[in-house]
Amino acid sequence: MRPIPLAPPRIESLSWGHKFHTTADVLRLDGVHPIVSGNKWFKLQYYLAEAGALGKKILLSFGGAYSNHIVALAAAARVAGLTSIGIIRGEEPAVLSPTLLDARSEGMDLRFISRSDYHQKLIPASLSERYDPKDIYFIPEGGYGRTGARGAATILQLEDTSAYTHILAAVGTGTMLAGLTLACGERQQVIGIPVIKNPGTLVDEIRALLPADRWEKFRLINDHRLGGYARFTPELIDFMNGLYAEEGIPTDFVYTGKLFHAAHDLLQSGALPAGSRVLLIHSGGLQGNRSLTKGTLIF
Ligand SMILES: *Cc1c(COP(=O)(O)O)cnc(C)c1O
Repeated sequence: MRPIPLAPPRIESLSWGHKFHTTADVLRLDGVHPIVSGNKWFKLQYYLAEAGALGKKILLSFGGAYSNHIVALAAAARVAGLTSIGIIRGEEPAVLSPTLLDARSEGMDLRFISRSDYHQKLIPASLSERYDPKDIYFIPEGGYGRTGARGAATILQLEDTSAYTHILAAVGTGTMLAGLTLACGERQQVIGIPVIKNPGTLVDEIRALLPADRWEKFRLINDHRLGGYARFTPELIDFMNGLYAEEGIPTDFVYTGKLFHAAHDLLQSGALPAGSRVLLIHSGGLQGNRSLTKGTLIF
């Protein structure tokens, strides 16, 4: 299987570090690939390897109309010479989102199912007209699972990250956070910023991906003011535009905008002590901003 060619990620410093007597650096995974941007390729890599080892030719997964996971899977499958199927939540719209258009142009077979079928992860029976079920390799929604976490663990090996005291990342399914927690050093703490409104069972879902002796290495901190999953407030948009104007870093409104906002708060409030060396994982996802009205963001 051919690996996806990725540009090496850069580590950049935020000027806030100074202001709050800390180091605040960013691992820019957003720049590693134009489509498979951010954390998704890292989470997918061992799923693809396993599919290859099992001789599966078709990768199938689930997502919504703006899913970073779906478009990354489509691109990764094409590079690997595999077929991809995306089971998409909701009726097929008259006009496809830019995300789904990208996925389709990467060769993905898009299948739309109702929200209630999606909730149960029902596979449309019509798939068997075209595909042999035994060729299909299933990847959980969002890449959630231990295989995804193992892949995400490699993120911390891209650069020397050993001197940081805290690793901060946005949390959707928690798979990336679990990977960072697996890979972090003895003296490092991993802090996750959930982007969903009611993170209810999230801690348990992350723990399920980790050996118990790693459970104390991560914690979740909620930033409640910025809207729920895929929602945003004017404050968040202002913050993202300010971040771009001052630091030159573009973020997405679903994940990384909320991460940077929460990180700023944590440093400003002194919740992370002076002298901390903080590494923010810029996990990409910028393509999702295409769902915003033009002109909302300055980048
Ligand atoms: C998917 C995604 C996340 C969350 O990753 P999980 O492993 O699901 O927690 C964070 N940031 C971006 C940009 C993403 O696309």
